[in-house]
Order: sequence, then C-alpha cells, then structure tokens
Amino acid sequence: ASIFAKVEMAPRDPILGLNEGFAADTRAEKVNLGVGVYYDDNGKIPLLAAVRQAEKARLEAAPARGYQPIEGPAAYNAAVQNLLFGAGHDLIAAGKVVTAEALGGTGALKIGADFLKQLNPDATVYISDPSWENHRALFQNAGFKVENYPYYDAATRGVDFAAMKASLLGLPAGAIVVLHACCHNPTGADLSESQWGDVVEACRERGLVPFLDIAYQGFADGIEPDAVAVRLFGNSGLQFFVSSSFSKSFSLYGERVGALSIITDGKDESARVLSQLKRVIRTNYSNPPIHGGAIVAAVLNSPELRKMWEDELAGMRDRIREMRSSLVDKLAAEGATQDFSFVTAQRGMFSYTGLTVAQVDALRDDYGIYAVSTGRICLAALNTRNIDYVAKAIAAVTR
Ligand code: PLP
Repeated sequence: ASIFAKVEMAPRDPILGLNEGFAADTRAEKVNLGVGVYYDDNGKIPLLAAVRQAEKARLEAAPARGYQPIEGPAAYNAAVQNLLFGAGHDLIAAGKVVTAEALGGTGALKIGADFLKQLNPDATVYISDPSWENHRALFQNAGFKVENYPYYDAATRGVDFAAMKASLLGLPAGAIVVLHACCHNPTGADLSESQWGDVVEACRERGLVPFLDIAYQGFADGIEPDAVAVRLFGNSGLQFFVSSSFSKSFSLYGERVGALSIITDGKDESARVLSQLKRVIRTNYSNPPIHGGAIVAAVLNSPELRKMWEDELAGMRDRIREMRSSLVDKLAAEGATQDFSFVTAQRGMFSYTGLTVAQVDALRDDYGIYAVSTGRICLAALNTRNIDYVAKAIAAVTR
C-alpha cells in the first residue's frame, strides 16, 4: 500500500480558493476583491521606482552569493529597528532589541512562535475575533492552544473595546496576545492611541506576552503614526515580540521580506535570546535569502531612495483612501439603501462591509465580483475603471 494512502485532503485555503474561481471566470468585467494585495489604478501590482533603482545598482555591482548570517545582515536589521521604534530610540541604543530577518511577516510569526514554544510550552495564544486567517493555524502548528479575544463589533463596525479590555484583564500570566499594530486584517477597525495605552497597561497588569503583528506600516496614516502601538509598547518597559513585513509597503510580496524583533531587558539577555533564535532559524531554513532584504536595506539606508519610497508609499495610501471615499459616494449615488460611510473610517487595505454570505454569492454569480464570504473586500483592488461597476453591483445586491 502507498505510504500516503491514509492522507486526507486538507481544507482549501478560503482566499486561494477564491482566486482559483476568479481565474476560471470568463466574464471580462470580473473583479477580484478577495486578495490582500495592493494594485495600482491600472490593476497591476506596482514595482516601486525606489526598488527598481536599488535593484539596478545591485545588479551592476554583481555581488557574490555567499550564505548570509543566520539572522540576516546587520544593515537590514538596523533599518527594521529604526522603522519600528524611530532611529536612535533608547531600546536600540541599550541593546534591548534583537532583530532577525525573516521570510515575510509569516516567517517572522513562525520563528517567533517556535521560540515561544521553547520558552513557555503551556501558554495559550489569544488572537482577535476575527483575525488574519493564518494566525490560528500558524500558532496551532507551532503546538499552541489558540483562543480568541473579543474584537470586532458588527453593530458599530468598529472595535468592542470594552469587551476586548475586559477579556485581556482576565487572561492568565504568560498568555501570548497577538495584536494587529495597525490596519487590522480583516476588519479595517483599529484601536485609538488611548485604547492602545490601555492595552499596554492590561499587558503589564496581567503579565501577558504581547506579540505585535505589523504588516501594513504606512498604509493608514503614515510610517510614523502607524507605528503608534509599537512605540507605546516600546516606551512601556515591557518585553514583547514584533513581526514586521515589507510585502505590502515595498510591494515585494514574492521576495518574502520581513523581520522578527524581540525586546529584552538588556544586552546580556539579547545575546542569549539571539543565540536561541538563531537555532530556531538554523534548523528551519538555515539563513534568509539575499535579494529582497538587500533591496529594502539599500532603500531604507539611502536618504535619496528612502524619500522616493516614502512618496510612493504615500501614493498607495492616498489611492486606497480615494477608493474608500469614492466607493461610499458612488454607493449613495446608486441609491444604496444602507449607509456605507463607515468604509471611510476603516483603515488599511480592507473593509468588513457587512455583506452577508448570500450577498457575496450574488456578487460572484451575477456580477463576477469576488469577495471573501465574511464580507471582507480589498479596497486596493478597486480602480477608476472598475469602481462604478462594483458600486452598482453592491448597491443592487444590498437593496
Ligand atoms: N500578518 C497580517 C495581519 C497579514 O495580513 C499578513 C499578510 O496578509 C501577514 C501577516 C503576512 O505577510 P507576509 O506576506 O509578509 O508573510
């Protein structure tokens, strides 16, 4: 008998399944609002000019392709720390930040999870309800029990902060709490600065282990304001984990560029933590690939390229915002019976529209418009050519 005879079919990834359906759809007017990717107004994934310029210089320099350090190059890791905490932050100066390059934000979460499993194997991981669909499976596969904390409030289309805070204040010491630092995926509903302050204090009071996931820095209000949660935790004296990603902010999805940063209580602890983290990495994939991280480091460490990137990132952010307000206006103009103004208050790439499963099905069947069954749509997939069609369709199915 085959050694695989008892292997069962794994459940399909809901979003990748959606992409397959979209690819097979032959209607010319079809629109895919399911993916978590930024498209430009031409419906293309942009190759940023700053990236192109850094790549050209790298190609011309024709560097050798030796192994990288297990934790990635120092110039890259320093650039990550500066972006997260602000250049010259006390934590960095005191040697309290351990950073390792990782294979995207997902890879950062994974090496963080594997390290945490060694530290505290019996801890429970708490993720927001709802959360990015990979959070649960990723921490479960690392061996943790995963539970939810209350987050989204369908009635207000915002955060039920009272319930969230009460839940955090009831968690046992050592519980790991995964927090979306900005641009919550899938809801687009974020905490205010003062609410973040309360979360920091809840983590302190209960002795929780915060794990901040920042995959969209620069997509809400800007690079600095979007780091508010990271900065509040950074100034709190607490220890915590941060997974960060350049997939979206550099439009480098397939290059797999991210990082895990861990805040320790000082240089000596940092050296010990890094040594263990390197063991996790070494036994997983040995060391990170060169190209993506080299491009990001070159851009962030060059004043000229960095300025170029910041402008391009602002362009992406502004375009998403325009699509938000334009969609709201067009829905009203199409005579939508619901008030969709909440879409402009949500942040980042996504909106939880409140569309029901039946309405999402109708969008797909009647219009070739693909959204996640939870009603999540990606605003960055809208453009000046498809937005009228999408607004008309949403107004029709919600009437
Ligand atoms: N975390 C969240 C909340 C995300 O939305 C994503 C990507 O969609 C990631 C992490 C992972 O990003 P990456 O593609 O860099 O692995």
